Amino acid sequence: MLRLLCLCGLGLWLGLGAGLDREAAARPPNILFIFSDDLTCQAISSYGDERRLLQTPQMDRLAREGIRFDRCLVTNSICGPSRATVLTGKYSHRNGFYNNSNSRFDGSQTTFPKLLQAQGYQTALIGKWHLVSEPTGFDHWQILNGQGIYYNPPMRRNGQAVQTQGYTTDVLTELSLDWLRQRDPDKPFLLMCQHKAPHREWSPALRHLGWDQDRQYPEPPTLFEDLANRPRAVRDHDMGIATSFSDLDVKLRTPGNLTAEQLAEWNRYYGPRNEAYRAANLAGRELVRWRYNRYMHDYLGCVKGVDESVGRLLDALDEQGLAENTIVVCTSDQGFFLGEHGWYDKRWIFEESLRTPLLIRWPGVARPGSVNSQIVSLIDFAGTFLEAAGLPQPADLQGRSLVPLCRGETPTDWRTSLYYRYYEFPQPHHVRPHYGVITDRYKLVHYHAPDVDEWELLDRQIDPQETRSFYSDPAYADTVRELRAELARLRREVGDEAPAPRAAYGSERFDTEKEPPAQPQ
Ligand code: CA
Repeated sequence: MLRLLCLCGLGLWLGLGAGLDREAAARPPNILFIFSDDLTCQAISSYGDERRLLQTPQMDRLAREGIRFDRCLVTNSICGPSRATVLTGKYSHRNGFYNNSNSRFDGSQTTFPKLLQAQGYQTALIGKWHLVSEPTGFDHWQILNGQGIYYNPPMRRNGQAVQTQGYTTDVLTELSLDWLRQRDPDKPFLLMCQHKAPHREWSPALRHLGWDQDRQYPEPPTLFEDLANRPRAVRDHDMGIATSFSDLDVKLRTPGNLTAEQLAEWNRYYGPRNEAYRAANLAGRELVRWRYNRYMHDYLGCVKGVDESVGRLLDALDEQGLAENTIVVCTSDQGFFLGEHGWYDKRWIFEESLRTPLLIRWPGVARPGSVNSQIVSLIDFAGTFLEAAGLPQPADLQGRSLVPLCRGETPTDWRTSLYYRYYEFPQPHHVRPHYGVITDRYKLVHYHAPDVDEWELLDRQIDPQETRSFYSDPAYADTVRELRAELARLRREVGDEAPAPRAAYGSERFDTEKEPPAQPQ
């Protein structure tokens, strides 16, 4: 069956490949951008995580019919900044959105939706926005308030407050389907469907409660990792499953805003399980294990909802005859820790947080079932969509178009390293600001503020779990020297050599006087 589907996909590709450029010039492709929040590769079956946490048939369909990017990395692993980077194709220090605490997106700057709109695209944004200022560059928008909530979310539609009913992933899917049906069929479109799920506090659709039949999940090898030999910046965090889960995170408390009927269904699932948990009086590792399994039920249940949304959107493209001329992108604003290092959340340069899923179906361009392992990034999306629409690359764009990679051609000068920088401190999660350089094998990272000055060298070939630093190992002295030079080169290239403004860190308590020179020696 699988083979048959693959052959069908190949046929679609071959059939559409001929004359694509001519066709695209006459009729620019539509773009359906399905953007999740905190969706990580470990939760998508086509990425092949060895824990086999979840089957995601709809996202797998996209991977089978398109291209899977295996190393799509973010430039600042946190929600708002990633969104600003997607829109602008620029790093945080260029688009001005550094953190979720006090940054506000300057909507007057150039974004790819604005450029597409000016080119005649009909543009719509539905779902999580999280950039504080109101959206610009969209003919139609309906966004969640702030982070959004999981049930019956209040929203804003084109500047007006509206109240919705239902599970948020479903609500956003319905709104997207409604917009697809009523759009102007004579114009190409950009539809950005941006889910809240599976963001904290990971509340699934009520129909998915109990979906896993109380499965005990395989644990990551680092669930109980001892961080004693790591720098203070890594040890001194507030994002451990053991230390930092709230009652709402583990559903010992009920989220607000449920209707009486929804609450009854919620309690039918969680009620007896919570009673059993309280009676067991767990502590130590058993408590962490219980939390990990509750976390997996909830987080993966949210991903099931997103997967169903992907399927409904793909079906709608089929039904409306749009599949052949629509680029479908399924991705997330960053990855997420599913117990690795004992953590949840993101922020770090470490792989689970740094890497984000990226599946692109583009009939006639991306060969079905292909896989790309080059270093690509969310910063590349703007240039990709502009090229797809036949538009030039703006001179100040910091990403590169992925179009040649989608075609299976890697430019000889494609990047072999990427610059990363995270700012927000101390709240939430107490992850210290850091920046670094990433290559296919190594990461060199500098935790530089406000009260630390520590370096780590990670070697993913020797230590794929990233559990130790080789920075002080004499055998790595040349590697450290080379990577420090590369980091300095990248900082020059992206224009990030000066210390960041105090506001970048998002806290009044952040004292830049304590910040060592950001420029590595
Ligand atoms: Ca996020």
